[in-house]
Amino acid sequence: MITSSQGPNKPLVIFWRNQADSAAYEAARTQRLFNAQSPARYPLAIAFVKTQSEVADTVKLAIEKNCRLSVRAGGHSYASWSVRDEAILVDLRDLSEGPILDNNTGIAHVSPSMTGNDLVSYLSAKGRFFSPGHCPNVGLGGFLLGGGMGWNCNVRGILCPSCSTFKVIARHILSKKKNWGWACEQVVAVDVVTADGSLVRADTQQNADLFWAARGAGPAFPGVVTRFHLQTRPAPKQMRSSGYVYPIKHYMTAFNWALKIPSGLDDGIEIVAIGSYPEGLDEPCITLAILVYGDQEESISEILQRLDESHPKGAVARWFCEETTIQKEFEKKAQAYPTDHRYFVDDAWLKDDIDVAAVLKPAFTKLPTKKSLVLWESMIPCSRRNLPDMAVSMQSDHYVALYAIWEHEVDDTRCHSVINEIMEQVGKQSVGAYLGEVDFRTRKTKFWGDEQRKRIMEIRHKWDPKGRICGCLGLDEMNGFCHPEKKG
Ligand SMILES: Cc1cc2nc3c(=O)[nH]c(=O)nc-3n(C[C@H](O)[C@H](O)[C@H](O)COP(=O)(O)OP(=O)(O)OC[C@H]3O[C@@H](n4cnc5c(N)ncnc54)[C@H](O)[C@@H]3O)c2cc1C
Repeated sequence: MITSSQGPNKPLVIFWRNQADSAAYEAARTQRLFNAQSPARYPLAIAFVKTQSEVADTVKLAIEKNCRLSVRAGGHSYASWSVRDEAILVDLRDLSEGPILDNNTGIAHVSPSMTGNDLVSYLSAKGRFFSPGHCPNVGLGGFLLGGGMGWNCNVRGILCPSCSTFKVIARHILSKKKNWGWACEQVVAVDVVTADGSLVRADTQQNADLFWAARGAGPAFPGVVTRFHLQTRPAPKQMRSSGYVYPIKHYMTAFNWALKIPSGLDDGIEIVAIGSYPEGLDEPCITLAILVYGDQEESISEILQRLDESHPKGAVARWFCEETTIQKEFEKKAQAYPTDHRYFVDDAWLKDDIDVAAVLKPAFTKLPTKKSLVLWESMIPCSRRNLPDMAVSMQSDHYVALYAIWEHEVDDTRCHSVINEIMEQVGKQSVGAYLGEVDFRTRKTKFWGDEQRKRIMEIRHKWDPKGRICGCLGLDEMNGFCHPEKKG
C-alpha cells in the first residue's frame, strides 16, 4: 500500500500499479466487482477515498499525471466499467457519509457506494421508502446515474394525451399515482466533484445541465458524484405476490396472458416473465411473477384474485397473494443472481407493436446454462407518458434482459456467443437499450434519444473539456480523450 503525500491530516490510500505489491494491486483493482469474469484492463492506480476533499485531491492528481479518472461506487456494472486502462480509479467504498434523512422534507442524503439494501433498511425503520435496484447490493451511484429501473418502476404518471387507450387510467392515476417511475426522477440534487477538482451542487436552480445529465447519462456523466439527495416516499403498507410457473410447452399461452395484464389493471402492479431452470427441473420454464403494492389489503387481494381466476391452465407451481416485503424479494433476487459467477448481459427496449412472445421465444428456450435467466418486464404505462426533461430518454412498452450466468472460464466464449446470437435477432425488433445492463462494446443501438445524446456530449465538453472522466467504454465519442484505451 502506498500513501500519497496529500498532506499529513488527509493521507490518501492509493495503490500504484508500478509500486504496490502485485497481489495488493490486484485485490484493489478487482475488489467488489460483481462480475467474476474480471477485465484485462489495468488502471495506473486505485485510490480509496474517504471524503469529498479526497475525491477532489484524486482528480487533481489525475490532472497532474495527465491521466484519466474512472469511478467505482458499488462495483455492479456487468462490464466492470470502473476498471480502465491507464486511469486512476476512484473507489468510493470508504466514502460512507450518512445516510441522513431530513424528517421535514423526506429527503435522504446518501453516499454513492451505499447499496439499495442498506438504504431500504435505514429508511424502513423510519417508515419511508426509496426504490432501489432489484438486487440488494447494487450501488446507488451507477444505478441512479443510469436512470435506475427500481421496484415498481412502470410508473403511472401523467400519460401522453394522444394515447386514448390510457385516458381512463390516466384520470385514475392522477389521483392515485401508485407506481414509482425511474428512480432518478426522485433525485432532487447531487454534489459533484468536477473534472477540474471543484465541488459543486447541481439541482434545478444551479448547474442545471449537470443535474439533467445526472439523471440518465450513466458513465457518460462528466464528474464524480459524492452525494445524492433523494426524495423518499412513505413505505408501502402492503406488498403481495402471486406467481405461476409453466413448463416451456405452455410458453406462448402463458406469455400472451401476461401481456394482457398491464392494460387491464390500474393499481401499483409490477409483472415480470422470467425464463429459467427452476431448481430440480431439467427443462426451462416461464415464471410469471406479479407484485402488487399498496395501502389497502382488500384492493390488493382483489387484483390478485381477479388475475388468479384468469390464469391459464398447466402451471407446475403456483403461489397466490403471499405477503412479502422488499427484503424478502431481495433475498430471492440474490439467489437468482449469485455472486462469484461470470456474467454476460444484454438488454433491449422492444418495439411496442410486435409479437413479443414470438420474438422472445429463442431467448426463453435457448438459455446457455442452467443458471442463466431472461427477464421481460412490462413498462406500460410508464412507456406511454412523456418523460421529465432528463438524460433518460429511451423507453418502450417492453423491456427484456438476457443474463448468461456461469462459473468456469472454459464456457466464456460459448456463453457470450449464445447471448450475442439471440440478441442480434431481438435487437432488430428493438428501439434501443437500457444502458444500465449493457456492455457498450457488444451491439450498436441507441441508449438515449438523438437530442439527449447530443446534449450529453455538449455537457461533457463543457464540464470536462479534456475528457478526464473515462466515459462509456466502447462508445467512442462518450469515452475520455486523454489516452487511447487498449481493447480488453
Ligand atoms: C445483480 C445486479 C442486479 C441489477 N439490477 C438492476 C435493477 O434492478 N435495475 C437497474 O436499473 N439496474 C440494475 N443493475 C444494473 C446496475 O444498476 C448498473 O450496473 C449500475 O451501474 C451499478 O452501479 P454500481 O455503482 O454498483 O456500479 P459501478 O460498477 O461501481 O459503477 C458503474 C459506473 O457508473 C459510474 N458511476 C458510479 N458511481 C459514480 C459516481 N458516484 N460518480 C460518477 N460516476 C459514477 C461510473 O462510470 C462507474 O464505472 C443490476 C446489476 C447487477 C449486477
